[in-house]
Formats: sequence, structure tokens, C-alpha cells
Amino acid sequence: MAIDALPPLRDVIARHDLRARKSLGQNFLLDLNLTAKIARQAGDLTGHDVLEIGPGPGGLTRGLLAEGARRVVALEKDDRCLPALAEVAAAYPGQLHVENADALAFDAGAHLNGPVKVVANLPYNVGTELLIRWLTPQAWPPFWDSLTLMFQREVAQRIVAAPGDKHYGRLAILANWRCDTALAMAIPPEAFTPAPKVHSAVVHITARAEPKYPARQKTLERVVAAAFNQRRKMLRSSLKKIHPAPEGILQDAGIAPTARAEEISIEGFCALARALDAG
Ligand code: SAM
Repeated sequence: MAIDALPPLRDVIARHDLRARKSLGQNFLLDLNLTAKIARQAGDLTGHDVLEIGPGPGGLTRGLLAEGARRVVALEKDDRCLPALAEVAAAYPGQLHVENADALAFDAGAHLNGPVKVVANLPYNVGTELLIRWLTPQAWPPFWDSLTLMFQREVAQRIVAAPGDKHYGRLAILANWRCDTALAMAIPPEAFTPAPKVHSAVVHITARAEPKYPARQKTLERVVAAAFNQRRKMLRSSLKKIHPAPEGILQDAGIAPTARAEEISIEGFCALARALDAG
């Protein structure tokens, strides 16, 4: 069953000559049942503004609107997509606001009314950078309640990874310190046009009101960056970059000086950050 009365995406792309550009990370989703399913991973959208990055020809945008989003604010860098998006806006009067903007340089906050969910099939070249920005705002809680984002599978694994997992690192700690994360859907290359070389996955991230463990964000980031910069080394050695005598702070945090970054829980890193600030 069609999710809306608009034309199929293949026709939209042909009519507006939207040949995918690699430089813009353009891999489009043309199956509207799939885009509606991705939209549903964000939970109930009614009563929410949704921020979408990179609507392209509008497949996920249509999914979000069909699933009941109060409003979608969509940032698209490629002005070739604007006429196609104007057709979607006309089908949902007053509900779709498109900005022809670079998401890395645009403050979307001014255009959004809470509660806000972010849902996007992100351009791979800027996806991680945007995620880190959303996870490290000036003040917590952030402007968004949840992030439902498509990444390369390997990045998705890094976001949800637990201690001891080979994907565990800075991204997992940043994401899981103040949020709950889950892999929501695996998406094979064939789902996209053109098909990328890699597999993809949708990750769902929900912001908590408070961090799971107390720590100063900047200190936590410094400790984690130093620890994982040399992830195979013992912490007493890798932390020398940020402290002249790491043994002391490791002891204060209750962590063995011979432990390695990948074994340390988020609770442990927060204890280290607090010990560093106290010392
Ligand atoms: N949402 C569409 C879909 O699911 O079919 C397109 C997704 S495609 C992976 C990524 C989209 O992000 C493209 O439309 C691309 O033009 C856009 N884009 C790339 N870099 C961007 C940036 N810095 N800011 C905003 N949009 C960007």
C-alpha cells in the first residue's frame, strides 16, 4: 500500500534529474515502505518536530510525515533536490520546512520547537562529526530527545559497543555516558540507489536527563582520547599524555595501572575523569 499520494521516488529522481553525487554521500532509499519503517524506529512522532539531515529526493522525509511527525525541518546541501522537496511540502501543507544548508554550518535549533527527534539517513562523510556534536552540546540535556540515524555498519557497531568489544572506544563512551543506544535495523547495500560498498545500520539513541555517572564532559573526553589513542598500551603509560604520574589517579579511580583502555567501563572512565579533576 502506498504511504502517500505522491509519485514513486524513481519517477521523482528521473523527473528532477537527481543523479547521485558521491561527493555528497548520496545513496538514496527508494522503497517508501522501508523509509516508513525507519521513521517508526524513532517511536511516536506525533507532537514532535523532527530534524532531518540530507532529505535528498525526500524518501525518508515522506516516511516521517506519513508516520505523523508534527513538523519536519530538513537541511539539504544539494539545491538540485529543492524542487522535489517542494512537492512533498505541498502535499503536507505547513509541515515541511526545508533549508538549503550545510548541516555542519547551520544552527537548526532556532527552527525547531520541542520535543525534537532527529532522524536521518546521514551522508557518510559528515555523519560521525554531526553525531559527536549532538552528543557533546554546551549543556545537557540536549535539544533532542532521540537520534535515529543511519550509519555504515562499522560506525553503528562503534556506537553501541560494550567494554571488551573490539569496536569499543571513544564513540561508545560518548554515546552511552548520557544516552541509551541500540541497533535498530540492519540495512543491506541493495536497499540504496546507488548501492554503497558497505552495509548500513540504523542506530536509535535516547537522551537521559542525567549522565549515568558524574564527570566533567571535557575531562572525560580528554581521558578517553588519551586512553584510546594508544589502546593496546597499559593506562599507566597511555595516560602520561595528560598527567605526569598516572598511577596516582588510576589508584584513586580504583583501576589497575596495568589495565588497558578497552577493558574500562564508562563508570571507570568517569571515575578517572573525577580523579583527574580532583588532583
Ligand atoms: N534522505 C535521503 C534518502 O534516505 O534517500 C538521502 C540520504 S543520502 C545518504 C545523504 C543526503 O545528505 C544527500 O541528499 C546529500 O545531498 C545530503 N548532504 C550531504 N552533505 C550534507 C551536508 N553537509 N548538509 C546537509 N545535507 C548534506
